[in-house]
Amino acid sequence: MNIMQNKFPQSEPILRIGIILPIDKRKEVTISFSDPSLFEIETFDRLNPSSKTPEILNVSVDNGEMLITKIIEDDNYGITIHGVPAGREFHWEKTIDVTLLGNVDISIKDEYLLLTNCVPLEQYIACVAVSEMSSTCPSALLESQTITARSWILAAAEKKHSDLNLDACNDDCCQRYQGLDQITDSSRKASKDTKGIVLTYDNQICDARYSKSCGGISESAENVWDMPPTPYLSSVYDGPNDNVETDWDNWFTYYPKVFCGQNYAPEDELHKYLGNVDKEGHYFRWLLNFTQNEFCKFFSEKINEHVSHITKIDVLNRGKSGRINHLYLDYDTNEGIPKTLRINNEYDIRKMLHPSFLYSSAFIINMDEKHIKLFGAGWGHGVGLCQIGALGMALNNYSTNEILTHYFIDTELKRLY
Ligand SMILES: [Zn+2]
Ligand SMILES: [Zn+2]
Repeated sequence: MNIMQNKFPQSEPILRIGIILPIDKRKEVTISFSDPSLFEIETFDRLNPSSKTPEILNVSVDNGEMLITKIIEDDNYGITIHGVPAGREFHWEKTIDVTLLGNVDISIKDEYLLLTNCVPLEQYIACVAVSEMSSTCPSALLESQTITARSWILAAAEKKHSDLNLDACNDDCCQRYQGLDQITDSSRKASKDTKGIVLTYDNQICDARYSKSCGGISESAENVWDMPPTPYLSSVYDGPNDNVETDWDNWFTYYPKVFCGQNYAPEDELHKYLGNVDKEGHYFRWLLNFTQNEFCKFFSEKINEHVSHITKIDVLNRGKSGRINHLYLDYDTNEGIPKTLRINNEYDIRKMLHPSFLYSSAFIINMDEKHIKLFGAGWGHGVGLCQIGALGMALNNYSTNEILTHYFIDTELKRLY
């Protein structure tokens, strides 16, 4: 079923999560079963008994539609889908095998496969919480992440894939979901201990957003997406005090004592806690140093024009976290014609100013004839819960409630079912 926007469900919903999408342009997929006798396969003309289920099943668009159902409720066995895209269009894109609980529905859309996992919400949430963060995280962080992820899916405000009748996809575009292998005792516990609990504001489920690291100040939603200001998605200083810094030139090279910074969440320990597809690196403060040649090379490809020199990058507007959402980029073409490109949102800035994708749009630019240096802060859009900041709070004994109300101002927790 598809979740209705702003309706409080009375019982645990079954979600439809897209695992392989038509945009992946897949005509074949391999599926395997750890115990085939637990699964029944229904094709367009008949229901095959579970004794006929093979250990490995190769499905192609020529097979038509198919429904794979588990006949016995057992959380330890799932359906493994091989070669599932993770990190679509991002620099960390790869394919992985995922083992799914619930049922699998295969249909054909525009000549390509659409593979949907029909899964009870709490099982989905137990997988999402640790796909996004490792289960070695302290319980207050896992609970905060679990409640945030549950609120986001139940608020159903984004609905990025409603044309495919999906509640969400499996990837960073919605929420990273990598199935059963990611579930651990602690993530099951976080899901169980917070079962049915969501964040509410003004008696509505919060469209709770989150990103990896805000960089010290979280961003207001209206500075990132085309949406009205939302009280619980407004910028907060991510530290124990309200010391808001606005001198950006200093901010990006300075290490304030904030929850996502070195004092609360030491960077050399983050690999223990971060989800497994994240590349290790610097998230809180980073520096990229391009030569003019390097920059012009990838930039030419992005705009499909031969660029010989970047003359100037002018910041027109920053959000409260320092994230740029409006800039002018002046360049010369190979023919020596000066041109200007105007980029007017955070996502496109991150896409255009990096060979693949920039960590965040919070940076200052330092450039000369030879080099373009970007000094930046944070990773992700920076709105709502800062995952590394929430980790820093949890490691320093803040409670789930304290973490959630720090990032989502004036919200209340409510148990729906
Ligand atoms: Zn999506
Ligand atoms: Zn933060």
